[in-house]
Amino acid sequence: MNCPYCGHFDSKVIDSRDVNDGIRRRRQCLQCESRFTTYERLQPASLFVIKKDARREEYDREKLLSGVRKACEKRPLHGSTVEDIVDEIEADIYQLGKTELPTKAIGDMVMTKLKKLDHIAYIRFASVYREFTDITHLKEEVDILADNILVNSADQLPLIPTEEMTAIAKSPRRSRR
Ligand SMILES: [Zn+2]
Repeated sequence: MNCPYCGHFDSKVIDSRDVNDGIRRRRQCLQCESRFTTYERLQPASLFVIKKDARREEYDREKLLSGVRKACEKRPLHGSTVEDIVDEIEADIYQLGKTELPTKAIGDMVMTKLKKLDHIAYIRFASVYREFTDITHLKEEVDILADNILVNSADQLPLIPTEEMTAIAKSPRRSRR
């Protein structure tokens, strides 16, 4: 790790502590004495992704980051969202304890998270990842989302209070005019 100020190749560690799933180290450049921070993250020993054509490739965090970043571009999401999503996915993968995983499984994890977060980002990711070949596929996906939004809006306050609804339902028909 070169010094971000002068580019010198060597530094000493002046403080280190555990943070979440990694180690944060405070370093001091041996040449210009500037201080900077590095993070070390534990990576599953060796994780391979199995691609659609059955080829295996070593898992690449950068690749996943760039895919998610593209989907989230210019969306009103917090700056750390992309990193957070990838962190969570890596933690989930780690929990699974597998040494290889189909790309599809990882893509599905991303979609599940994006769906909860931002529908535009979700559709963008899904359209690349699922390779929507025509507009019909895309429309189907948007329709499913729209249905979900309608279902979710049922959580909002009802127009008629529940007690009244129950009263109406229970009351014998003849008592109503
Ligand atoms: Zn330096």
